[in-house]
Amino acid sequence: MTMSVHQYLCLTDNYGVLVHDSATGATACVDAPEAGATLAALAERGWNLTDALITHHHADHIQGVPELKTKFPNLKVWGPAKDAARIPFLDHPVKEGDAARVGPLKAKVIETPGHTLGHIAYHFEEDDTAFCGDTLFSLGCGRVFETAYAVMWSSLAKLAALPGETLVYCGHEYTQANGRFAATIEPGNPILKARIEEVARLRAAGRPTLPTTIAAELAANPFLRAEEPTVQAAVGMKGAEPAAVFGELRARKDRF
Ligand SMILES: [Zn+2]
Repeated sequence: MTMSVHQYLCLTDNYGVLVHDSATGATACVDAPEAGATLAALAERGWNLTDALITHHHADHIQGVPELKTKFPNLKVWGPAKDAARIPFLDHPVKEGDAARVGPLKAKVIETPGHTLGHIAYHFEEDDTAFCGDTLFSLGCGRVFETAYAVMWSSLAKLAALPGETLVYCGHEYTQANGRFAATIEPGNPILKARIEEVARLRAAGRPTLPTTIAAELAANPFLRAEEPTVQAAVGMKGAEPAAVFGELRARKDRF
């Protein structure tokens, strides 16, 4: 395996991530919340930026790109074709099933509309790693700004179907707050309880709670568990369609 990943904090609670191929030196940033933090992370590792993998159009994910393009004139920017109008500097607009490349490393593009219409995730299948932006968080999910809840549920279901061992990187460090809501839905879930305790320890030590894994989220994240009787009962919707249960969970979290 030649892929290494370096995660660093940006702005207040955003994560930037560098994906590096040690064989060729090719390096991508996944989103660019802040050029300065990305440049510092590159300098720390001694890596040169060749690509940017953009998940969605929100400013806190793309605003660093223009400055990075100035510093690295050959930078290739990948991002959602469906949001090309809102991400003007895209070199490689991609859609479902396309491959984004970082040197020899290959990421399959998964369209995950919901948080935004054009949101995409990048799945490096050979390296069991996925970058999910603001669609899936640990113990939570992104706010649904641009589609119906049911569309976001389908997007989360696509991510949930990835192999359990898949490492999941997310756009924000929201795990602790997400855990407080999750505990109101499944207070009796021992795996959730253990995760909340682990997160408290990590945060107290100033450490990230990410990456997570698909298997860990399936066991503890209420937004992936809308089919579970315990979750359905918690929102008074036993036997309801999972998409509807998901919508109720999301609406409750918005008010939480
Ligand atoms: Zn966002």
